Amino acid sequence: MQDIQHIIDRLVGDGSEGLTFERVRGDIECARNKPLLIETDVMPISMTGYIIALQDVDLICTRRGMTVLRTQFVILHELGHMLLGHISRLTKEAPTCTYDEFIKHRNLKYAVHRSYTNMYTSPPERAAETLATALFEKILRDDNEHKHILPALFVELL
Ligand SMILES: [Zn+2]
Repeated sequence: MQDIQHIIDRLVGDGSEGLTFERVRGDIECARNKPLLIETDVMPISMTGYIIALQDVDLICTRRGMTVLRTQFVILHELGHMLLGHISRLTKEAPTCTYDEFIKHRNLKYAVHRSYTNMYTSPPERAAETLATALFEKILRDDNEHKHILPALFVELL
């Protein structure tokens, strides 16, 4: 597991370019060598989002109907799990399904999800939450016009 401060320092670099969502996403796509998709999905009210490593993509889903700000924070939480090395590139216990196979049944057995019950009790959840908080503060400072915050997702939410 990587140290939170080390991850932030690496992403911020020398600070000459502001930190944006796209920069964090690009860093992860590069490290894991597959595209990272961000979508919304219907899920129970107690759950805010999940992340799952698929064969051809990594997929983050947030609960449909949350506010833009909350959605952004949940995305950062899930990105945090990846940055912290919590998500194997492929499922270890079973053959990893492709995106097309996954969306047919959305079996969340191998997904990591954020819910109100596990958020404060499990150390990986706390680490992802802490990293997300630090990244979000930095992104909101650097990107105050919100020009770079996932325009495609905005269209879906608004
Ligand atoms: Zn989590």
